[in-house]
Amino acid sequence: MKVLAVSPHLDDAAFSVGGTLAALADAGHDVTVVTCFTRSVPDATGFALACQTDKGLGPEVDYLAVRRAEDRAAMAVLGATPVHLDLAEAPHRGYESAAELFAGVHADDDVWRPLTGLLDALSADLWLAPQGLGGHVDHLQVLRAVAGLDHPVLWWRDSPYVLRDPTAVPGPDLPAGLAPVELAQERERRSDACACYVTQLGFQFGGPEGMRTALATLPEPLLAGPAALAVLAHLPGQGGGAA
Ligand SMILES: [Zn+2]
Repeated sequence: MKVLAVSPHLDDAAFSVGGTLAALADAGHDVTVVTCFTRSVPDATGFALACQTDKGLGPEVDYLAVRRAEDRAAMAVLGATPVHLDLAEAPHRGYESAAELFAGVHADDDVWRPLTGLLDALSADLWLAPQGLGGHVDHLQVLRAVAGLDHPVLWWRDSPYVLRDPTAVPGPDLPAGLAPVELAQERERRSDACACYVTQLGFQFGGPEGMRTALATLPEPLLAGPAALAVLAHLPGQGGGAA
C-alpha cells in the first residue's frame, strides 16, 4: 500500500504521527512524507530572518536547506521517503510576528490553491494530514488543501501544539463525520527521528531530552472518514485496534 503523509513544515509529521509512520513502514508499506513549506528564501529580513537567528543561525545560513537535511535524516529513521514542495513558509508570505502565525489566515493568502495543485499530482492509497490543532496558518492551509481533494485521509493531532493545549480544536475545514482510530506505533523510533530536527528541539521542547520526555507517552490517535476506514479494514493486523 502507498501511504502519503502531508506535513506542513519540516518536522510536523514526525512530531505528530512518526510512530504510526514507522510502524506502517515496518509492515512493508511504501511511506512518503510530503512537506509543503520548504522553500529557501535568500536575503530574508524582519520576522522571517529572526525565525532563524533566534535559533542561533546567522543570516548567511540557508535555514531551509539545513532543515531539509534534518528531514532527510529523520525520514531515514522512520523508513519513509521525503518529498519537499517548493512553497514558502508563512513568515515569507506576509505574516510578521509569532502571534500573527496563530491569528487566522490572511484574506490574501491563498497558498492552499497552488498546494492543492501540487498534491493533486500525487497518488496514494491512504493519506495522513493535520487536523490544524493550534491554529498555525500553515497547518490550516494544508488542512484546507487536503480536505478539498476528497482522498481517504487519517487526520492527526498536531504535536507539539496538542501538548501545550490538550483541548485545542481542529481547523474549520476538517470534514464532518469522522471516527477515531489508532494504529500500531513505534514511539521510540518517533523520538529517534524527531531528534534529527536539531534546529527545532530547543525552540519546541527545550532541547533533545525535553523532546524525548514530552513525546515518550504521547499517543497518536487519528480521525478517519468512511473512505479511510474502508482502506484500514483491508489491512492485516490493523483496522482500528489500540496500539
Ligand atoms: Zn508546523
